Amino acid sequence: NGRWSLNGFTALVTGGTRGIGYAVVEELAGFGAKVHTCSRNEIELNRCLQEWKQKGFQVTGSVSDVSSSEGRVKLMDSVSGLFGTKLNILVNNVGTNIRKPSVEYTAEEYSKLMSTNLESCYHLCQLAHPLLKSSGMGSIVFISSVAGMVALATGSIYGATKGAMNQLAKSLACEWAKDHIRCNSVAPWYIKTSLVEHLLEDKEFVDRVIARTPLRRVGEPQEVASLVAYLCLPASSYITGQTISVDGGMTVNGFF
Ligand code: NDP
Repeated sequence: NGRWSLNGFTALVTGGTRGIGYAVVEELAGFGAKVHTCSRNEIELNRCLQEWKQKGFQVTGSVSDVSSSEGRVKLMDSVSGLFGTKLNILVNNVGTNIRKPSVEYTAEEYSKLMSTNLESCYHLCQLAHPLLKSSGMGSIVFISSVAGMVALATGSIYGATKGAMNQLAKSLACEWAKDHIRCNSVAPWYIKTSLVEHLLEDKEFVDRVIARTPLRRVGEPQEVASLVAYLCLPASSYITGQTISVDGGMTVNGFF
């Protein structure tokens, strides 16, 4: 059934060598899409590409740093070279965090978080727009965070970048609907990845996280990837501008 297949679709997933990005690459490729991904580490990227080849997935990759403008332009040049100016799916997954009290952030840290988490997404959407439009069926997914919806002790700048992504998804959904491009935001709570592994080693911290989470556990990268894939499938063709949490119920838990 074509509604549940990505056969013939092309996708760019940023930051696909670990964590959520890695799971998203596999999920989209598993539904039949041709996927391009990137990371800053060539050795790790090549190891992943080898793994995907062995699994029979059609995945290519570039070494690029999406926090720089030149990196983004070069990445999108590779994508249009590979996919012949037609891109169906853009998953803006790269993101990072620096956890500190608000009064302690430096201007450099502010810029780093803004350029990596927000400016990269904005510029990649601009660069991808003509390719998404010419595909005739485009879908953009932002990997946001529940930190963009509720206040968390994860850092105020991180929360601001994620809140801005959720709003950007709404704006682009309306502006680019006429171009047959949908745009949605996915907001995870704690997911077992390298980004947060140091936090999840602290048993006391994990107990506090779980106490706030109705499903009483943290999430797996695949549990985010399945929603991302759904938002890229023709099956979700009437869903745009939404922010959807993958959070074990955390954001709806008043006091439980
Ligand atoms: P990881 O740090 O585990 O993986 C990040 C991936 O992105 C790696 O492949 C990394 O490779 C790549 N990457 C990082 N920076 C850049 C860059 N500047 N240019 C190109 N590639 C880059 O992160 P997660 O999988 O945990 O996070 C993915 C997204 O999910 C982020 O946006 C994060 O904010 C969000 N999120 C994560 C949550 C969690 O609990 N894990 C919760 C809520 C949201 P390399 O470093 O080699 O470049």
